[in-house]
Amino acid sequence: MGNKCCSHRQDTEPPRVYPAIKNGDPLLKPSLGSIDSRYTPDPHRGRTATGADIIRPRATPSRPNVGMGQPRPRIVVALYNYNAREHTDVSFVKGDRMEIIDDTESDWWRVVHLGTRQEGLIPWNFVAPEKSVESEDWFFDGVSRKEADKLLLAEENPRGTFLVRPSEHNPRGYSLSVKDWEESRGYHVKHYKIKPLDHGGFYIATNQTFMSLPALVMAYTKNALGLCHVLAKPCPKPKPQMWDISPELRDKYEIPRSEIQLIRKLGQGNFGEVHYGKWRNEIEVAVKTLKPGTMSTEAFLEEAAIMKKFRHMNLVALYAVCTKEEPVYIVTEYMSKGSLLDFLRHGEGRDLKLDDLVYIAAQIASGMKYLELQLLIHRDLAARNVLIGEKNVAKICDFGLARIIEDNEYCPKQGTRFPIKWTAPEAIQYCKFSIKSDVWSFGILLMELFTYGQVPYPGMHTQEVIKNVERGYRMPKPVSHHLPEDIYIIMLGCWDANPQKRPTFEFLFHYFDAYNVTSELPYREVFD
Ligand code: AMP
Repeated sequence: MGNKCCSHRQDTEPPRVYPAIKNGDPLLKPSLGSIDSRYTPDPHRGRTATGADIIRPRATPSRPNVGMGQPRPRIVVALYNYNAREHTDVSFVKGDRMEIIDDTESDWWRVVHLGTRQEGLIPWNFVAPEKSVESEDWFFDGVSRKEADKLLLAEENPRGTFLVRPSEHNPRGYSLSVKDWEESRGYHVKHYKIKPLDHGGFYIATNQTFMSLPALVMAYTKNALGLCHVLAKPCPKPKPQMWDISPELRDKYEIPRSEIQLIRKLGQGNFGEVHYGKWRNEIEVAVKTLKPGTMSTEAFLEEAAIMKKFRHMNLVALYAVCTKEEPVYIVTEYMSKGSLLDFLRHGEGRDLKLDDLVYIAAQIASGMKYLELQLLIHRDLAARNVLIGEKNVAKICDFGLARIIEDNEYCPKQGTRFPIKWTAPEAIQYCKFSIKSDVWSFGILLMELFTYGQVPYPGMHTQEVIKNVERGYRMPKPVSHHLPEDIYIIMLGCWDANPQKRPTFEFLFHYFDAYNVTSELPYREVFD
């Protein structure tokens, strides 16, 4: 083994030259490795989907009634269908109107359905104020440029499919994203800036101004007016995430075991099996069972409590637990493509392109950026602990080793097992776990991702890894796979011997979220 290690050995510290993010917005400039930056408020919270930090209910729309000049409405309109799950909630179909009675509670609003006159709770993010821009089929709040690309490029969408989203850079502006096709480029997405006028109204080209966003969209659906294509059809909207399986389970999450039907085994975890199942024969769930005697129910519930408390698009949501009898169950959202590791090695992940890999990296970094802000360290970040859903959505799971830290670091009790190849040297040697040791693990995860699930440090035993890493050895850039040099430099940054010199997850998220942008043509503006 010695020879192999020596051949890759780096005598000097790995370089810490980070590729610049070529983005004009100072808000997007990441703070590299600065501990303080972890505590500064994030200007993008709740803005982008990959970057949405916490998805919290809003009592008021983010940009109410753009260009329509109405007071805050109390009538909401359904954006999706919803089937009631208890006697306390109300069913509705897309387009139904409801009057809000109480919008002060988390996640669930009390309404009266204006058709059925039924009163009850509804998931807040399934509706929007009537006649607001948010209620338009084409309006996508909280969607980044990269996500817009992903949504529009879905095969089923024809040329001219479009959406409008708040601009990531201009607080009063919007972006129009349109799917286009050209002989030389195939299908791609063009993004146009929608700029606000000083006295109300909007424009894309200065010679065509409109009173409101709907008026602007309407005009471009009739005539391309210089756009790449006439606006043909709004992009289909994916259903929003629900954090509770039902309104009854928003605070209490112990449920009777009889409500869970186990359907098929999905995998084997460290402490028990994982099954695909249904809640009340209806809602898809994943059920993690705890083998009796392998772990205390207390520790198992600790994981559940962490999952319930922390909410982010890129963290697997916990729905419920059954702890009254053995084996204990943890009921979580179901991720149809299983673990990232299996997906990359044996599943559809084998066909992923660089762009898809970067998208997955951005999502994981986004979930970790959220944990960084919440002062939660994961301690077991690895491809096996990331789950993949439809359209390559990635979510971090397995919070079994996660700990909330009061200080910057967490020191586990002696004898706690850790996955050596993913663990930072200071954590192995001195039990110094911190968000920076998670950054190290993220670097290893990146290598797993860009080598389609290769075991890190191939051919090396864990003891050799410990010894060699300590001496400055780092995994070399793989020759077997195409890994862009700048992403390899990012990995080396994550593996800096000095934890404080490793980048923040905030930086890593922005780096991967902007990755395509930097390598693509500049932001496009018609008529400019
Ligand atoms: P774990 O116990 O978390 O290591 O899970 C073991 C295996 O079960 C994973 O590798 C996945 O293949 C599968 N699995 C775990 N949780 C889920 C989930 N929420 N949805 C789908 N598959 C899952």
